[in-house]
Amino acid sequence: MLKMKEEALKIKEEIIKIRRLIHANPELGFEEWQTSKLVSAYLNSLGLEVQEGIAKTGVVGFLEGNNRNKVLAIRADMDALPIQEQNKFEYKSKNKGKMHACGHDAHTAMVLGVAKLLSKFKAELEGSVKFIFQPNEEQSKIPGGADTMIEEGVLENPRVEAILGIHVNPQIEVGSVGIKEGSIMAATDKFKIIVKGEGGHGAAPHETIDAIIIAADIVQNLQAIVSRRISPVEPVVLTIGKVCGGESYNVIADEIQIEGTVRTVNPEIREQIPMLMEQTIDGVTDIFGGDYRFDYQFGHSVLNNNRELTNLVTEVSKIIIGEEKSIILKNPLMAGEDFASYTKEVPGFFLHLGVKNSERKIYPWHHSKFNLDEEALPIGTAILAQSAIEYFKNV
Ligand SMILES: [Zn+2]
Ligand SMILES: [Zn+2]
Repeated sequence: MLKMKEEALKIKEEIIKIRRLIHANPELGFEEWQTSKLVSAYLNSLGLEVQEGIAKTGVVGFLEGNNRNKVLAIRADMDALPIQEQNKFEYKSKNKGKMHACGHDAHTAMVLGVAKLLSKFKAELEGSVKFIFQPNEEQSKIPGGADTMIEEGVLENPRVEAILGIHVNPQIEVGSVGIKEGSIMAATDKFKIIVKGEGGHGAAPHETIDAIIIAADIVQNLQAIVSRRISPVEPVVLTIGKVCGGESYNVIADEIQIEGTVRTVNPEIREQIPMLMEQTIDGVTDIFGGDYRFDYQFGHSVLNNNRELTNLVTEVSKIIIGEEKSIILKNPLMAGEDFASYTKEVPGFFLHLGVKNSERKIYPWHHSKFNLDEEALPIGTAILAQSAIEYFKNV
């Protein structure tokens, strides 16, 4: 297994070069045309069977090992975010208002590295590997990349048995990885509330229905769902990220829009939330004689790491980077991830790769100065590649 670490270190510069090239040329969801061209050219150069144009810009590379019908998938996402990059290094984004601020450039580069390593060790592969490069993880357009890839048959022909994924994590020190069985990323839903009142003169509130007052009470009382109606040991986040409405300082507003997101880990709690929210919205609006429209949209499901795959990757990680660097995470992250869509179909495992460097400031995901310590890239590559080899020994 340590051989794989050495092999990954040998291609480290190449992986970094690919990552920087993708970083400098970020593309948004379903528009990853250049990135997907780069990916398919690389996979073709390795001699893989390559399929392009799945879910518009998605690419799949198939590496046939000793058994064509035993298939493990490894997935990378390719999309960037609509953020103007503030970093100053020479490979900063060349595309105005677009940036790889979530590390998908690194995921794509690493999984290409895995394809290269496994091509070299094809003789040791007791099955075959499907490399999935998907568009639009960030869901700039609905439906997202993973769902569209699945719909277009990426898990079929030949059928995928299990899937591995990876995400860089700026909260974990470089050199380490974060591992957790069960829920690792939250279910992410979004909602919109339109509060309807009746406008009028600011000096005569008794002749109006003030939508701002109703909205303010709704904002306050929605927080009480988390603190008073859900068990304190169940993780739930209810965030309101946008409130807008009103026309002028001396006019009572007749309509306010409220938008937010709900994050949960327990599917039963998730089911209850829209009903609890509507009770609050309905009750508060009723007090003031107003009206409302409430729209709740279920997004990504919770991402659950399969037990056997977790054990397998943990063992590989312990050998490649050591036990103390294979950190067992206690809690899931309350962010979402569309890798969850694959794990609803087949057993999956999602690895968190440490990219934090305490000696310099690393900004959080989706920050205009997000960057990562590239020393992590060969580590992620080696763990995924070796896990694929071990997977077929175990099944
Ligand atoms: Zn992201
Ligand atoms: Zn991401």
